Amino acid sequence: MESAINSLFGRPVPKLGFGCMRLPENQNGDYIMDECQAMFDYAMAHGINYFDSAWHYIDSQLVIGQCLAKYPRESYILVGKLCFYDGTLESIDAAHAAFEKELHDARTDTMDLELIHALGNPGSLERVDKLNVWDFMKQLKASGRAKHIGISFHSYPENLEKVLAAHPEIEVVQIQANYYDHHTNGAAAIGGSYQTYEICRKYNKSVIIMEPIKGGTLATVAQHPEVKQIFDAADATQSPAAWALRYAASLEGVVTVLSGMSTLEQMQENVKILGEDFKPLSEAEQKMLQKAAQIVESKKPVGCTGCHYCTDKGCPADIRIPEVLSCLNMLNQFHNPRMTRMKYYPAIKKSSPRDCLHCGSCERSCPQKLPIMRLIQEADEKLYIGENIDLWANH
Ligand code: SF4
Ligand code: SF4
Repeated sequence: MESAINSLFGRPVPKLGFGCMRLPENQNGDYIMDECQAMFDYAMAHGINYFDSAWHYIDSQLVIGQCLAKYPRESYILVGKLCFYDGTLESIDAAHAAFEKELHDARTDTMDLELIHALGNPGSLERVDKLNVWDFMKQLKASGRAKHIGISFHSYPENLEKVLAAHPEIEVVQIQANYYDHHTNGAAAIGGSYQTYEICRKYNKSVIIMEPIKGGTLATVAQHPEVKQIFDAADATQSPAAWALRYAASLEGVVTVLSGMSTLEQMQENVKILGEDFKPLSEAEQKMLQKAAQIVESKKPVGCTGCHYCTDKGCPADIRIPEVLSCLNMLNQFHNPRMTRMKYYPAIKKSSPRDCLHCGSCERSCPQKLPIMRLIQEADEKLYIGENIDLWANH
């Protein structure tokens, strides 16, 4: 397959990387090993030899170890991640133990790349500095237990700038990137803005892309007839997901684009797009995607600017109003209730629109004069489907 030679690894790296966070599972949450093995075998047979894993992806490294046991270690690139954002790893000793578990489970004695997981999640920057995880990472590299080190990043561009300026030891940055957020600056708050990508380039870092289809939402944008029309005019044989994957893989300096594949069919489809037939986007196609992003942006029904005036003044029910409204916009833009619920449920974990006291304080503070009370109820009616649901299931 067509490969980019990446100087970091000193060997070909496929444009498609296998994100191993959503491996096939049955209804009890147990991995379906024959399906997993079929996916790993298909990947290796098609040059997809970049495997992104994490200590946090429950037992996935055991699956990787088992499925790749028959392949020589030097035939694939294995990436691990340690997460410090949720307080599970509270000391460097705990980090050492977690790293050793990663190696043990994956049946290897070295990681090709080890990342600090989701740097920028609330509290994680402070915790990483306080524990001096930076020295720990440098030691992993010096000892050869990790050949390269880096971060996966989920925060504001200015935080990335600060981290990269302070830590030149970072070799790789894994970021979210997709054509919609790049052209609308829609994900500035979670590390997916074009500015984030540009900062990686400015510091000359190797870039790995995650969430190229924006959590699956860009796979459904052709439900807007205007978007379908320009997609079809450009090339009717390309799926909406293909446009998104090709955009991410066409960005300069990108080592690989991760896709969290759960079925062999998804993998076969992705290999068709980013495998040997991969073509970087032409200038005309880039412009077409910019236009598609603007059309999708125009479908936002709620003109919330995310200024937070409504919550700064204090919502007595502690409802995360801008996040709830952003989910209502997302539902209308992408017609993807399942993916929208994956954002909505965390947003209402503490307090939901059903807790609204109808005090009207938020509406009095809103510079856009939005009917917030009605809109948050609308969001809840469309997105709330009960407690304890499986957010990954089809619904
Ligand atoms: S009306 Fe509801 S959402 Fe608005 S501030 Fe009062 S409690 Fe919060
Ligand atoms: S004050 Fe209005 S525009 Fe600002 S975040 Fe709240 S709802 Fe959105």
